[in-house]
Amino acid sequence: MLIPIIGVGAAALASVAGYHTMGPTSQLYGRNFIGLPRGTKKLALTYDDGPNDPHTGHLLDVLAKHEVKATFFLIGRYVAQRPDIVRRHVEFGNALGNHTWDHPNLIFSTPTSLRSQLERTSTAIFDACGQKPSLFRPPFGGRRPGVIPTARAMGMTAIMWNVTCYDWSPTTQEKIEAHVARQMRGGDVILLHDGGHKAFGADRSWTVQATDTLISRYKNEGYKFVTIPEMLSSEGEIP
Ligand SMILES: [Zn+2]
Repeated sequence: MLIPIIGVGAAALASVAGYHTMGPTSQLYGRNFIGLPRGTKKLALTYDDGPNDPHTGHLLDVLAKHEVKATFFLIGRYVAQRPDIVRRHVEFGNALGNHTWDHPNLIFSTPTSLRSQLERTSTAIFDACGQKPSLFRPPFGGRRPGVIPTARAMGMTAIMWNVTCYDWSPTTQEKIEAHVARQMRGGDVILLHDGGHKAFGADRSWTVQATDTLISRYKNEGYKFVTIPEMLSSEGEIP
């Protein structure tokens, strides 16, 4: 019976390694922030893969209507293409994070390419708006030993999430709301997308619509929407 036992063990180990590599809440490869303690009446909306046009602009209109600020993890090559949208974020008061230059899975990156991905993006954000990001989110949530310490050495805190909305492919406002309702526990970091990593201009109309109804619904339930830096400071954790 030795072989089957080894087989089960190997499968279990592979599954554990896979979880720590891609699972958003795993802490094995470095400390990363995934939200405030359960029951906290604060929520953070986070948007990846922008800046994008026209959907980032539509999203800013919705956020302005509700007087809510959010956190955006930007792709460097889109920042270089549309620095004007980055400046709008800063004028609006949104928080910005580094989401790499062209969205590789960092599990497969060399130390040199990892550093280059992060540095080029932080420089592009600085060139656009005069601020270097203090937040980082790995594409696909992918990380290996070294990714989070490298980001930290560059002054960035790794931010993951605990509510996944599956809005990176065509979906509906109702489905996004159902994903949030199912996973929410208070103090959550909600993962949404205002752009697409494959090409600039991706449709994110469902995300814009869902943002409108999510904010109305959870404000009515007594939740306050905050940025990730606001969450970090209320946790007492200084990045
Ligand atoms: Zn992404």
